[in-house]
Amino acid sequence: MISVKELQQFKRGLASEGKIGFVPTMGALHEGHLSLVQQAKKNCDHVIVSIFVNPKQFGPSEDFARYPRTLDADCQLLSQAGVDAVFLPLAGEVYPEGFQTFVVNSDMSRGFCGEFRPHFFGGVLTVVLKLLNMVGANEVFFGKKDYQQYKLVARMVDDFSIPVIVTGCPTVRESDGLALSSRNKYLTEEERAQAVSISSGLNKALALWKAGERKTLALKSVIEKTIEAASGRVEYCELADASNLLPAPEKISTNAVILLAAYFGQTRLIDNLELTVV
Ligand code: AMP
Repeated sequence: MISVKELQQFKRGLASEGKIGFVPTMGALHEGHLSLVQQAKKNCDHVIVSIFVNPKQFGPSEDFARYPRTLDADCQLLSQAGVDAVFLPLAGEVYPEGFQTFVVNSDMSRGFCGEFRPHFFGGVLTVVLKLLNMVGANEVFFGKKDYQQYKLVARMVDDFSIPVIVTGCPTVRESDGLALSSRNKYLTEEERAQAVSISSGLNKALALWKAGERKTLALKSVIEKTIEAASGRVEYCELADASNLLPAPEKISTNAVILLAAYFGQTRLIDNLELTVV
């Protein structure tokens, strides 16, 4: 477990030719996070994982205070997974007194989650830029579970010429299809059962897609109906061009992605599905 100073020492001790992989997280680790670690171990010589619950990506009425914090269990999982260092920056190191500079994305951050959480991606991109500068990794790993976030980070890395490779990793799911998320802990037993409707809706859309359906509305409405039938409240369910997240036309002809957020009780879950044109 290391702070910023110890991180610099740790890095000085590494062989200079070794590739450093980096997995930024907010902790409350599960198999989804560990899959990023495994990918990082495959691609890199050394793996650093950060745990930092970033206050700047939570709105005033959101769950920063009650976000699950399970540091001891996280460190145990990471040590079993064989990571080389766990970076635990202090809030005062990430946001020193007088901090006043933020990353602003002008386009891709506006829709989907950005529409409903307007503060969110500014906070995410700012902390990711900071962490990338602090860690100085060669490759950084993000889950496609947070698809818009992954695309925005990749965009920022290109836009700012940050010397790091951004690798997106597939979503890890429970056996019934629910995407793993630290926020699944908030669900009651009943809500947990209802939340399966997200992945079953996405799977129905995938079946339609494979059968040749290309109409945006048809793909979207099968998902909305499935979630609503299970008492979920759809916040958004949209289809977009997978390369730039521009809204999909009425009929899809390029690789696309379905992005959605839905509430079960008070808990907001997100998920997505990539649709590939063959
Ligand atoms: P978080 O701790 O929620 O900020 O997530 C840290 C990283 O883990 C992000 O890159 C997420 O996209 C990724 N992640 C979270 N859940 C999953 C999952 N179910 N499958 C794959 N990656 C995930």
